[in-house]
Amino acid sequence: MKELIRKEIHTLTEYTLKQYQSRIKLNQNENPYELPQQIKDEVLQRVGALSWSRYPPFVPQQQIEKLASFTGWREDGILIGNGSNDLLQLLFTSSLERGTAAVISQPTFTLYKILAQGMAADIREVPMTKAMHFDTEGIIAAANESDARLIVICSPNNPTGTFLSRAEVRAIVERTSALVTLDEAYVQFARESQASLLKEYDRLVVLQTFSKAMGAAGLRLGYAMLSPGLAKELNKLKLPYSVNIFSLLAMETLIDRWDTIKGWIDLLKREREYVLKELTRIPTLTPYRSEANFILFESSGKSPRQIFESLLAKGILIRDVSSYPMLSRGLRVTVGTPEENLEFLTALKEAV
Ligand code: PMP
Repeated sequence: MKELIRKEIHTLTEYTLKQYQSRIKLNQNENPYELPQQIKDEVLQRVGALSWSRYPPFVPQQQIEKLASFTGWREDGILIGNGSNDLLQLLFTSSLERGTAAVISQPTFTLYKILAQGMAADIREVPMTKAMHFDTEGIIAAANESDARLIVICSPNNPTGTFLSRAEVRAIVERTSALVTLDEAYVQFARESQASLLKEYDRLVVLQTFSKAMGAAGLRLGYAMLSPGLAKELNKLKLPYSVNIFSLLAMETLIDRWDTIKGWIDLLKREREYVLKELTRIPTLTPYRSEANFILFESSGKSPRQIFESLLAKGILIRDVSSYPMLSRGLRVTVGTPEENLEFLTALKEAV
């Protein structure tokens, strides 16, 4: 049977996440706050009034217009996907094939490499610097040497929290000829978005999501902002109706009510700084400054696995990232509510 599947798939390692039971869940960079029940009820009521027997609109124009005014980017350059993962897959499958190269920085979000491997592309992985900054010159050199079709940068980067400055984004676009994809899944926690550069560069693609700061990971909503010409090409391969009526409606409501709910971002940013400060005080730990809603830290004492297990025994779930490139001593914790963060820090001090 296996021979019926392309051979580059045979050697892929599955992208899986083991399910653990926990009281405090700080392993997936989700928003710890739930949307107000009133907003959920409003969405449920509106979706109840729609026809479920009919397909969603072929092009979700109403939601695209909402996103255009929300982001300030043009309607004909917006694609809505079933999570940003869906759009990443669309990008990789549209641009890569055997004999073409893709450049990624490491360590980063695991899915990029899997998608590139699945397309049998030649993957150039550029290690971050020791201080976990992007090696921008290395990325540019790798792209030019391999005549790369695609460069994917996650900023702020999962799992390091590193932010790529505007000048560096400009350098990468201007000094290469690749499609430059900037995954801004965590951008609301960072100093700024680079989406305004889309006006200047038609080889830039910016991905954002409703899964993190927007508090709607369960709804599976992501969007790409790109030049209209590229959007038109990608649309040819995009699955029709990949976002259901429920999520489309919820997206509208979330945007309409955003001003009343976005307060949780400042709170999470303050908590991030608090957790970082507390981690710095633990002698065997080296935390990294983050512009996302999670913090990477390395342990020079107990192993990441031991620390992970001790926390889990107390019902606190974080992420052991020691299998990521360069991070054999690494753990990643999502910023939770103040109460969750306190419990995590108390348990961590005993676990190290
Ligand atoms: N990009 C990055 C960097 C992520 O960390 C994640 C989620 N782990 C995603 C994309 C996927 O997000 P979505 O829920 O929008 O598919």
